[in-house]
Amino acid sequence: MKFWLAAALCLGLASPAAAASDREPAPAGSFPGAPPQFTKFTADELTRGFLALAFGSDLRIGARPKGVRRFDRPIRAVVVGGGSVDRVPAMQRVLFEYGEKVPNLHLSVGGAVDGAEITVRLIDEKNFGTALEAAFGREVARAFVAKTDPQCMTNVQSDPEGRIIHSESFIIVDKGDDVFLDCAYHELLHAFGLSNHDQRNPWTTLNQNRMVGYLSVYDRALLTLLYDSRLSPGMTRDQVNVALPQVIRSLGLAGPK
Ligand SMILES: [Zn+2]
Repeated sequence: MKFWLAAALCLGLASPAAAASDREPAPAGSFPGAPPQFTKFTADELTRGFLALAFGSDLRIGARPKGVRRFDRPIRAVVVGGGSVDRVPAMQRVLFEYGEKVPNLHLSVGGAVDGAEITVRLIDEKNFGTALEAAFGREVARAFVAKTDPQCMTNVQSDPEGRIIHSESFIIVDKGDDVFLDCAYHELLHAFGLSNHDQRNPWTTLNQNRMVGYLSVYDRALLTLLYDSRLSPGMTRDQVNVALPQVIRSLGLAGPK
């Protein structure tokens, strides 16, 4: 036991402390009690987060996508209202924020449901299971719920080259502002292509042990990287790992080490 304790302590000392810095309170409009955020990260902290979140998914149906997934054309998102609390304007504001703050998303909001790149469906919690079954069939929906007990969810369809064809998100509206905002920001990150979760990452809203409810500086940086022209759909982990340092540096996304 002592040996293991000593080894763990050594590891703790040997690995550098997290260098994220410049802590700020949650931005205006966040739900009461929303966590503060760090606003400066090292290139290594951004790279590690990107590699963990842009590859793989714990909500996968069918073949495992091989590389980066993202849209390769302008994105039109439509909000389909529903549920007992009207959150359509609030959901649209979240979308507009993503469109304004993330370069190269080319995001517009509104128009017909048919042909939209992203569909966001607002529902009450009691209808979540039914909505999932309607979208994916009973068997898949039940397997999802049994596996992950999801509160909200997003299905991303992409082609073999990693181009996203369509994303569909289900957001619960009747469990308070905190659940709604957390789901809205979290699920849109999935919809744009950050498909995975990382429960060990203390900065992202894609850590399922955290409730964030706003677009953090960290997640915005990861999405900015995903949509940079030097990255492309289908790129492998190794290719991304080679490309990222230069992209991070040129965009000025990382603070000093
Ligand atoms: Zn998620």
